[in-house]
Amino acid sequence: MSARSGFGDPDADDVLIHSVALVDQGVRLEDAWIAFRNGRVHARGRGGSWSERTARTLRDGTGAILTPGFVDIHCHGAAGTGFDDAEARAAALDEALAVHAAHGTTRVVLSLVSAPIPQITDRLKALHEYVSLRPTVLGVHLEGPFLADSHRGAHDPAHLTEPDRASVDALLGAGRGNIRQVTIAPELPGALWAIDTLVGEGITVAVGHTGADADVVRDAFAAGASVLTHAFNGMRGLHHRAPGPVAAAVESGATLEVIADGVHVDPTMIGFLHALAPGRIALVTDAMAATGCADGEYVLGSLPVRVREGVARLSEGDSIAGSTLTTDVALRIATTRSGMSLPEAVASLTTIPARAIGRPDLGTLRVGAVSDAVLLDEGLRVRAVWVEGREVPRPA
Ligand SMILES: [Zn+2]
Repeated sequence: MSARSGFGDPDADDVLIHSVALVDQGVRLEDAWIAFRNGRVHARGRGGSWSERTARTLRDGTGAILTPGFVDIHCHGAAGTGFDDAEARAAALDEALAVHAAHGTTRVVLSLVSAPIPQITDRLKALHEYVSLRPTVLGVHLEGPFLADSHRGAHDPAHLTEPDRASVDALLGAGRGNIRQVTIAPELPGALWAIDTLVGEGITVAVGHTGADADVVRDAFAAGASVLTHAFNGMRGLHHRAPGPVAAAVESGATLEVIADGVHVDPTMIGFLHALAPGRIALVTDAMAATGCADGEYVLGSLPVRVREGVARLSEGDSIAGSTLTTDVALRIATTRSGMSLPEAVASLTTIPARAIGRPDLGTLRVGAVSDAVLLDEGLRVRAVWVEGREVPRPA
């Protein structure tokens, strides 16, 4: 064996993980090995053939599971920082992302809640450099302000508005290509025009925070929307005489986001949803600033939120206000309480969300792919995380 003999050898792997169960692209391969070089997957194989290679870092994965890094397309913050926070500097945003990275999230879309258009455009401008410099940040998700008051959840009703041309143009201008996803309530005047316009700009449009029935939501998907924002939350449910947005999303081929914290959606319903739309469930966290923090008082956008036993609710009223979920916990809930197999649940945290936002290159460990990976023990607890082949420091 050639452990650690690769220093100075130009033909050595940067990282070689062997004897691991590799779960990738819906398949579990036992006794696999994988080699990372220059931030990419350089080679992979099975059995003992790894021992003929040289590597700078050799990792024995016996008894462990290796998956691609998790891609969270709906995340509002962590470590006391919300991505909306105009005061938040790069270091605070990095700290928030580090909390999620320690739990396996290697790529993230920054979600911003409803705010006045000038405030959102200011935030987009302020985030431009940050997003440009960090390949792990896949862009920004505007969750609002084009949402329905009837299903606003934790969005400030004063900030909700209709998608007119001036607003959409202002957001697109300030976004400078960084807007990855926009959530829209399709019953709003101008919504179908906005969906068409945003999709034409290469942006993924999601239906959410909506009071619409199935017919209106079908029209939105026909106009180019392709994701349902946190299925079941912020919309009508599934009813046998009123099928609603979830049914419309299932039949239209859309990707369905689900918050798998066991609070927003009963785990049984996550399993049902997966049976209805296999290969199209994207597990998301919807995590807010309190993630990785103690219970207490926080802010989501402009609204005060209290967190008790890890559950965030608006201080006024009782609306759930995001979660304190991390992707590793979502994986455990999906596999132990929703009946999803491990390869299915991993796909719902990797290839499926990546594809939903137009990044089919991410969320896989095939040869040539970026070497983002998560090493888990049998209980699906995170043991190590790599971003572009570099191991993320473990929290103390
Ligand atoms: Zn929401």
